[in-house]
Amino acid sequence: MSGNHKTTLEKALSADWGTLLQGALDYNVVSHFKPLPPKVMTAVVNYRCNARCAMCNIWQLPKRHEMTVDEFAAVLHDPIFDTVERLTIVGGEVTLRNDLVALARMFVDRFPRLKSLSTISNGFLPERVLTSTEAMLAMTEPRKIGFSISVSLEGLGADHDRVRGVDGAFDKVMQTLDGLQKLRQDHKFWMGVGYTLMHQNLGQARAFQRWAAARDISIGFQPVGFHSSYVSNLDLQDEIDFKPEDQDELIGFMQELGTRRSLIDLSAFFWNDLVRMYRDGAPRTTPCPYNMDGLALDCYGDVYYCLSTPKIGNCLQGQSVSDIYYDPKNLRYRKETMQERICKGCNSSCATETGLKKDVKKYLRFLLTS
Ligand code: SF4
Ligand code: SF4
Repeated sequence: MSGNHKTTLEKALSADWGTLLQGALDYNVVSHFKPLPPKVMTAVVNYRCNARCAMCNIWQLPKRHEMTVDEFAAVLHDPIFDTVERLTIVGGEVTLRNDLVALARMFVDRFPRLKSLSTISNGFLPERVLTSTEAMLAMTEPRKIGFSISVSLEGLGADHDRVRGVDGAFDKVMQTLDGLQKLRQDHKFWMGVGYTLMHQNLGQARAFQRWAAARDISIGFQPVGFHSSYVSNLDLQDEIDFKPEDQDELIGFMQELGTRRSLIDLSAFFWNDLVRMYRDGAPRTTPCPYNMDGLALDCYGDVYYCLSTPKIGNCLQGQSVSDIYYDPKNLRYRKETMQERICKGCNSSCATETGLKKDVKKYLRFLLTS
């Protein structure tokens, strides 16, 4: 049996009941009285990338000094990080950092309550991905911290190379995926591919599903999003966003993804939500930890509640991350602008599983009433 597949009973028994119960209490009661401390965190460890993706401008950003391991460690002395339970390490392309393993070790050692460590790679450098994955598993396994890695793949063969803007990219990703699948013979971790749905590859999504299923590879679909921060891709919207003629195909595909309702895989809630958003113009209802108890920190010291929204401060300019996170002005912005406006139009699948687990009452209502 592969590392990604468990029986329903196995999954139910291994469910993180502590997160479910604490989350229900935090989201439905505690948050009405005080701001929740951050439990979910994204660390952007670089803005350098060896891809030239059609939907992202990170690779074109001017190069600046990225915090070293010691500089990150100094920022992380702040007690606000004591509560972090889930960490995702992203770039740019994370493996372009020669000190990625040392950085990951510093994060893992710093977070006493860490339950999961995730990372994302474009898979262009198989050796580096596999070496760093093995090293991260050696850090997480003794502490029973869950590890997962998602490799970005936006199509098969030349289709992927076109989106990535690099010839031969698909072959490199295949080497990476093969290597990760071999690693899973000796280690327990989640691996899968992330497929950004856009005008250019929507029509190939079902063929991609069949290809991945035949290889026992999980897929995380994500409709393309446009943001002025992080991926900085507002100027690409005209070219890659869905067109009116894509609407039927898009809605039909999302409806299919939304049929897989279960107590274990919570993503059906998100896809049903997206159908209502794209088809009816309805507001998003899927909970998201990044507007409740999430935080993002990048290698320039910029602090965000969420990478899809503007930064809320910089921790290298006199304020600590605590000062910035709990600044009444920023908390007001999170409540009045993010929760009430931006998030209602957000199509991001990022951490939705965690958000739904913490707001489990919403999910149970969905299962019982839809
Ligand atoms: S989407 Fe990812 S792989 Fe592509 S350019 Fe941006 S950071 Fe690099
Ligand atoms: S719903 Fe979207 S914009 Fe709002 S916090 Fe989550 S990812 Fe960010």
